Order: sequence, then C-alpha cells, then structure tokens
Amino acid sequence: MLVVGSVAFDTIHNALGTHEKVVGGSATYASIAGSLFSDVQLVGVVGKDFPDATVAALREKGIDTGGLEVDASGDTFHWEGKYTDDLTARETLRTDLNVFANFQPKIPENFRKTPFVMLGNIAPALQISVLDQVEKPELVIADTMNFWIDGALDDLKELLKRVDVLVINEEEARQLSGQHHLIHVSAELLKMGPQTLIIKQGEYGAWLFVGDEVFSAPAFLLEAKDPTGAGDSFAGGLLGYLASKGEVTPENLKSAVIHGSAVASFCVEGVGPERLLKLTKEELAERVAQFRKITDFAQG
Ligand code: AMP
Repeated sequence: MLVVGSVAFDTIHNALGTHEKVVGGSATYASIAGSLFSDVQLVGVVGKDFPDATVAALREKGIDTGGLEVDASGDTFHWEGKYTDDLTARETLRTDLNVFANFQPKIPENFRKTPFVMLGNIAPALQISVLDQVEKPELVIADTMNFWIDGALDDLKELLKRVDVLVINEEEARQLSGQHHLIHVSAELLKMGPQTLIIKQGEYGAWLFVGDEVFSAPAFLLEAKDPTGAGDSFAGGLLGYLASKGEVTPENLKSAVIHGSAVASFCVEGVGPERLLKLTKEELAERVAQFRKITDFAQG
C-alpha cells in the first residue's frame, strides 16, 4: 500500500502533562498501522530537524521510506493540540506548516502502480496531485479534517469525486454535508463521490456505509492515554487489512473496520506512536478476537 500524508512533530497537552517533539503526522501513524498487515510505501516531507534514527525506526517496521523527502530549507510540520481531561475533545492551538508549505508530493516510479492508496490528511490539492501520478489503483481511501473543510472546500469536493472510501469523523462529516442526522449525512457524502463512507465516532467506534449496507463497529473499552493518531491508525490498519486480502468486498470492508479499530485501540494506549511501534501481530490478533467476543450474540 502507498501512504501519502503529513510527517510531523506534535506538541500534545493532556491530563498527563505537555509532551513536546512527539513524532506524529497522518502518514506516520497510517504507515505504522498498515505495516502490521502489508508492505507500506511512505511519501511525505520532513525538515532538517527530523532525526535519521526515527526514519530508521520506520524502516525497521518494513516501511519503504524511499518517498520521504528531506527539505533542508526548513523545519518539519508542527501541530500543537490540547485535549480536555476526559479526552473527548481537542483543540488545535497551532499548525506550523513549515516545509509542508512548499511540499509537492513526488511519487517515486516504483510506487506508482501500487494498488491500495491512502491519501492521509493533507491539503486536498496535494491529495489530487497524488492521484494524478498513480496508475489506476484498486482502491483509494482519503481522510480529511475541519482545517481543509474550512480552507479548501472546492478542492476537497473535486478530490471526493475520485475517492473510493472517505474516512471522516462525525463532527467533520456533519460540517461537510451540512446535515445533522447520520442518515442524511451519509446520503449527502455518498453523493459527493465515494462509494464507501466510514464515519468515526472516537470512543464510540465507527459506522461503515457501503452500497445499501450499514455496519457498526464498537471501539474497544479501555482507558486511553492519548488519542492523537487514532484516526490515522484506524485508516492505515483498515487499508493494510484490505491490501492483505487483495479484494475489496463488503465483507472484507467490515472486517477491515474491525482490524482498523483494533489497531487504533493500541494507538491510544500510549503517548504519540510509542505503543503502536511496539505492537506485535500476536497482540493484535488477540484484540481482534476480543472485538469478536464483544460484538457476538446468539440469533433467535
Ligand atoms: P488524528 O489524531 O488521527 O486525527 O491525527 C493526528 C495527526 O494529524 C497529528 O500527528 C498531526 O501531526 C496531524 N495533523 C494535524 N493537523 C494536520 C493538518 N492540517 N494537515 C496534516 N496533518 C495534520
């Protein structure tokens, strides 16, 4: 799978304190999550301040960093956010685009035929430019956020016409659709282009809308430490799972939502990507089994 998105340094304020220079970014989380299932090719940009050791840690996960550009003219993208003590809401305090401001994703020749493509949360115009460079992917999944709904709505609408799966959180889904009830929200968003829609509800799980089918996945019941990156790990795990299956069917999509939720549940157990980086396939399989247990019931 190919992952394009932000690679960042985050400053995270939460009940545990302030955490500075935490490695983050949509592409970072999605790649680490995807690497649990599939080969991952990462495309993004970092600045002169980004440590080689961190790139090496990503490589150790089997992530091909051949598309990670180093722009020595500036610093890495920086995002700063503050969570409420109950972790149910967060506020963005700063977004410093830094080297991201001039980023033009260049998809290396050997990444262009990759069948599963994740357009992580970056400017929609850049997400479009990625699609212009790749050859007929089997599946394109895109994530976005309020920053782009507010600032680049026309580009976002153009992008959505070319996306197969839109992954978006509930509040942003309402904002983008102009609707409130999820029945109307999903109908509006599916009219914009994607055939499949996934609405994330944070600690309450996610809804999948595909064709006439609706599927609900819970979130795992646990005490989260830091939700940063949960959405990206969810999407990366989901796409990695589909890439490992090779075929996109409604059944595989449902399973993919559960696998994405399982990966995301580990992400929130640590600050930044620390827990994800240590996650083993065995631990993940165990949690998927627990997901099955909490959703299984006897019929009739
Ligand atoms: P998530 O918690 O999954 O929504 O994603 C958190 C990650 O998104 C953080 O690691 C940030 O570095 C990254 N991020 C925040 N704002 C933006 C933005 N405007 N563009 C790209 N990435 C962003």
